[in-house]
Amino acid sequence: MKKKIAIIGSGIAGLTIANLFKKNSNFQVTVYEREKTLSLEEGYGIQLSPNSISVLNKIGFFNIDNNHFFNPSKLNFYSIHNNKICDLNLDRFNTDTVKYTTLKRFTLIEFLKDALFVNNIRFGKEVGKVSKIKEKLLINFTDNTNDLVDFIIVSDGVFSRTKSIIENKTVKPHYNGSIAIRTVIKSSEDFNYESENVSLIMLPKAHIVIYPINKKNEINLICIVRQKSFQNKDTYSIIKKEILSQNKSLENLFKGHLDSWPIYTTRKPSKSIYENVFYLGDAFYTFIPTIAQGASQSIEGANELFNLLSKDTKEIQNLYLKKD
Ligand SMILES: Cc1cc2nc3c(=O)[nH]c(=O)nc-3n(C[C@H](O)[C@H](O)[C@H](O)COP(=O)(O)OP(=O)(O)OC[C@H]3O[C@@H](n4cnc5c(N)ncnc54)[C@H](O)[C@@H]3O)c2cc1C
Repeated sequence: MKKKIAIIGSGIAGLTIANLFKKNSNFQVTVYEREKTLSLEEGYGIQLSPNSISVLNKIGFFNIDNNHFFNPSKLNFYSIHNNKICDLNLDRFNTDTVKYTTLKRFTLIEFLKDALFVNNIRFGKEVGKVSKIKEKLLINFTDNTNDLVDFIIVSDGVFSRTKSIIENKTVKPHYNGSIAIRTVIKSSEDFNYESENVSLIMLPKAHIVIYPINKKNEINLICIVRQKSFQNKDTYSIIKKEILSQNKSLENLFKGHLDSWPIYTTRKPSKSIYENVFYLGDAFYTFIPTIAQGASQSIEGANELFNLLSKDTKEIQNLYLKKD
């Protein structure tokens, strides 16, 4: 009989593992998403490591229209006054089929969603209670429906409410003392950086990362600024104080619509009280955006968990949490 898996949350982590299981006929997967639809808001750009691209290629990422992503070959480091300090050759991590890739989060989510069947995802579903019945887990959703499954994979993001419900204790991420500011810019003649590569501009209390996200000259800008607390201050006034006061020429980068949000991270990953519950993506462990590898880790973690569950090994929890 097929093993039933409930995946809670349809972000990059949940959708990637659902796609991997879709190809394994021993399992039946259903993704339960709290929102009414997938978050297809264009969103910020993401950078994906070659390792995560090789996982995505298993589910057909190599077919994606190549105008919708970019393969930068260098990461350039700049000082506060736009002087280039050094660079890192990203090409050395690439092969012919697997390359360091930048794209819009939206492009990745849409690809992952399109590769699933409509009945693989249920919207408007939030876990209310989980209880063990013999070897299985009974999920009671807040809309009074339920599902009896063999495994639960919780991938509902950094605030993971499902984790608090399952573990029966309040699990809260902590504010990491910085905020993220995002905008999309068009490369133009007065753009001072290499528009085909990743640029990292370092300031005392902030850094700015700029990179192309497609072949339409669209460039993603993420600025991480240290802030003791996050109040809904005017974002531009933060930019003026922490960035432009030090280099006015960076003004051109912040002319478009700016979004900002506080950055939260989780503490050490830990095992569930149930041996057949696993945490994945930001619900498992949240990487700080400075490392720019949270999405890549969600994808690589999905592949690791998929391999462990597919092999039907004992001690999956210990292997999943093992430090290599
Ligand atoms: C500023 C910034 C820049 C970043 N840049 C990069 C980058 O360049 N490269 C990179 O690799 N990573 C980057 N990351 C990190 C990356 O975006 C995340 O690590 C990744 O999106 C995590 O995916 P996830 O699926 O675990 O969670 P999420 O994307 O948060 O998805 C969680 C899903 O669960 C749903 N959900 C929430 N609660 C419930 C519930 N109770 N029940 C059911 N569903 C629920 C949500 O609606 C959502 O669909 C960045 C992050 C930030 C903040």
